[in-house]
Amino acid sequence: MSTPTRPAPGERWTICRLDHVHWGANGGAGLLLRHASAEGEPRYLLALRSRSVDEPATWGMPGGAIRDGEMPEEAARREMIEEVAHVPAYRIAAERVQDCGGGWRFHILLADVDRLFDAYSQQETDATGWFTRAEMHELPLHPGIRLWLDQAEASDLPDQAHTSQ
Ligand SMILES: [Zn+2]
Repeated sequence: MSTPTRPAPGERWTICRLDHVHWGANGGAGLLLRHASAEGEPRYLLALRSRSVDEPATWGMPGGAIRDGEMPEEAARREMIEEVAHVPAYRIAAERVQDCGGGWRFHILLADVDRLFDAYSQQETDATGWFTRAEMHELPLHPGIRLWLDQAEASDLPDQAHTSQ
């Protein structure tokens, strides 16, 4: 759990060079799962963050602080278990590192899965859903996934199967 009585080393607030306060002394990591069906646009798994975590009541990708000694993917898988209670088989499609500008980094691992699933841990998550990018724009998004979405649409991540308007 990422809110244990005794946090693991690295699971703490830290201040970057720009004086932002961030969760995770070693930065953070998350898995952004993508499912592309034959007929539709790709859908992404987002989790609605519960009141017990920061940025409550926003939709974000499962993820969190990297503990001391962890690789980003290990941290992302652990957080996925904590928030979504399931890590399916996946294939990493891209890794994007967001730097806040002050040296704090969040690793986004975009990964493809073969089927949708519905599961979550009620301790940190109030709901999960699979959304297209267009649907994401209608949600209250966590700033991290908002930034990812803006960058994905500005650049062209290996994604655009996207031909509808
Ligand atoms: Zn920062």
